[in-house]
Amino acid sequence: MRILVDRGIVIEDGVRLGLDSPGDYTFISHAHCDHVVGEKVICTPETAELIRERYGKEGRVREEDIPNIKLLDAGHILGSSALFYEGEKTLLYTGDFCDRDRLFMRRFVPRKADILVIESTFGRPDYIFPDPMDVLKEARDWVEDELRKGNNVMLLGYSLGKAQILEYFFERMSYPIYIHGSLLKVNKVYSKFGIELDGFMTYGEARREGFLRPPFILIAPPKNNLKVEAKRAFFSGWAKDISGYDASFPLSDHADFEGLVRTVRKVDPEVVYVTHGFKRELALELRKEGFNAIPL
Ligand SMILES: [Zn+2]
Repeated sequence: MRILVDRGIVIEDGVRLGLDSPGDYTFISHAHCDHVVGEKVICTPETAELIRERYGKEGRVREEDIPNIKLLDAGHILGSSALFYEGEKTLLYTGDFCDRDRLFMRRFVPRKADILVIESTFGRPDYIFPDPMDVLKEARDWVEDELRKGNNVMLLGYSLGKAQILEYFFERMSYPIYIHGSLLKVNKVYSKFGIELDGFMTYGEARREGFLRPPFILIAPPKNNLKVEAKRAFFSGWAKDISGYDASFPLSDHADFEGLVRTVRKVDPEVVYVTHGFKRELALELRKEGFNAIPL
């Protein structure tokens, strides 16, 4: 059993199993990683469906072809999973993950492994996020305040994952809510898997049909072409680095720095490979704790 890292990360053990990378088999951790969809794909049914809906590509579930793997819920977005591989050594590949419960999302629970491959999106000590429920409550106060003043509010978050958390949370408020049309496809898949999000009207439809009732909430991806008079709030782990919005909230679908370090301690690996993000910074911090940490 070898780990190859020349073009993506591949486990070579008889067959080549690509980790969000091409191989004889390709494990796709979640539907943000659509570019590696190939013939023999291993992913959850939710990820397969999201890939099909969003990109029109076929994501096939072939977990049964390789008996010594197990997919664990990574808590990042619907269907996201980590991969646990049992060869002569055990290996855990996290993909993108979040170690905190958020509304309908359950947190990633790691397993002990000899080798760990971990993401490091927020792998720097200055990225520490408050509890997601506290962030959402603070956002709700801001939203209510603006609506009371008669202002429309636009809540901006990534269209797969973040937007659905915002829809689910703000749906309970007694103000009209509209969404950007690009969220419909994703909402359909969430609803199919039990997270009911198919009752929203798009902003475009509401305007065309004369249903717009200001002040309203509009949920949309950060990049959109809507021309709406509204106060804008941005939701992201990068909130502190972003300017130009009326408000920004550190709501992330990833583990923060402390969550990453905590996860490594729980897995307690002989070697940890750090990928995707602040990999050098996180590897350095992990080495201070005595881990054999290598940035990829
Ligand atoms: Zn992701």
